[in-house]
Amino acid sequence: MYSFSSIQQLQADLKSKTINCEALVTLAIAEIKKKQHLNAFLEVFDSSALELAKKTDEKIAAGTAGKLAGVIIGLKDNICYKGHKVSASSKILEGFESLYSATVVEKLLAEDAIIIGRLNCDEFAMGSSNENSAFGKVLNPLNEKCVPGGSSGGAAVAVAANLCHVTLGSDTGGSIRQPASFTGTVGVKPTYGRVSRYGLIAYASSFDQIGPITKNVEDAALVLEIISGLDKHDNTSSSQKVDEYSKQISSGKKYKIAYLKECVEAEGLDPEVKTAIITQLENFKKAGHTVEAVSFPFLEYLVPTYYVLTTAEASSNLSRFDGVHYGYRTPNATDLESTYKKSRSEGFGAEVKRRIMLGTFVLSAGYYDAYYSKGQKVRRLIHNKTNEILSTFDLIITPSTPGTAFEFGKNSADPIKMYLEDIFTVQANIAGVPAVSVPCGIHSNGLPMGIQIMAGYFQESKMLDLAKQVIV
Ligand code: GLN
Repeated sequence: MYSFSSIQQLQADLKSKTINCEALVTLAIAEIKKKQHLNAFLEVFDSSALELAKKTDEKIAAGTAGKLAGVIIGLKDNICYKGHKVSASSKILEGFESLYSATVVEKLLAEDAIIIGRLNCDEFAMGSSNENSAFGKVLNPLNEKCVPGGSSGGAAVAVAANLCHVTLGSDTGGSIRQPASFTGTVGVKPTYGRVSRYGLIAYASSFDQIGPITKNVEDAALVLEIISGLDKHDNTSSSQKVDEYSKQISSGKKYKIAYLKECVEAEGLDPEVKTAIITQLENFKKAGHTVEAVSFPFLEYLVPTYYVLTTAEASSNLSRFDGVHYGYRTPNATDLESTYKKSRSEGFGAEVKRRIMLGTFVLSAGYYDAYYSKGQKVRRLIHNKTNEILSTFDLIITPSTPGTAFEFGKNSADPIKMYLEDIFTVQANIAGVPAVSVPCGIHSNGLPMGIQIMAGYFQESKMLDLAKQVIV
């Protein structure tokens, strides 16, 4: 088995002919098969991947290969790749094939990356444990009794278990960072608008971003740089110039770092996670950065605000799955209305239905002011406070998650308990700022822990620069 350590090393090995792309893809397919029980991949695109590999080998020989030549990339099953199936891990999209590729996929292919397959996730990216997939749970390779996190669980596991080199996930409230934290990988949620959402199956459009999950910060920086940028197909994508993150991550700059007191002192925080975060803060100080505690008085409002607003957006976004336009249609309908009702009742899973109902409720005439409108106002307060802190500090630190990966079933009976898993990650999506989760040590239970770094809008360079300095 070729042992992948970084994209840079891989490029050197391809150049020196230690390995070629065709062999890399063959090895990856074998490895995915060997670890099939993890259930990370829903489908392997063997023939198109091998075809891409052959073409890339020719380009390497001709000296015309792109920056991601030979990098084997898996896609979360909510990112479209033309001519390939995509299902958002839902029965309702059964058999559906993408008619076009997401902009991120086009950008990866333009740099000669090899797309290897689609990865299991929580249905429509709703969940924190991957237990909500219509196609079975994904096992955490570090302890198979434990969840890999969600919703991009398959994407995190594919990197952690060496099934491919890099994956793309989506993050609406932590779905890249939380599974990264649970599997000892690096996960980036870019600034809202940094990466085009064209071709991402929408969950909550004002929160969703696509981002990379990788083995190290350098790879995340390079992939992020490639997938970022203005896109005429996504009006919320930004025209702000894309920095060369991969070249700016060893700047030697000293940063003003804030850590959020309420997060580090949170009641439900695992004491070992707390110690790991404090140790990193000490390390940052020793390295010459300034570290200060800052109060963030809205911690308890984060999760409710997130769930009021995202369910509202989801109820609207998911109305297109009606049994007529896409995928699954009930065989039991008698007229148009029962086609809609039965297709949706049979096609969606329990969590998705719960959120559609919640979202419809908070948007309904009688409750709009009490919930949706209030949620928008609280979002503004959280946004303002986050930006106020980031006007005096370069970066904000919190733990990525309250604890390490938990056992299957632990939170399944209690949605509120499950939702509280997102307490530290949703802030970045509510405010729209970038955030990364980086491994910061191993718990005495043997599982990895993650530290989260948030930065101001479009300050991914600073964020990744500090992320690289985290000592494991
Ligand atoms: N765990 C969160 C949720 O269940 C985050 C999901 C996401 O980021 N897609 O909504």
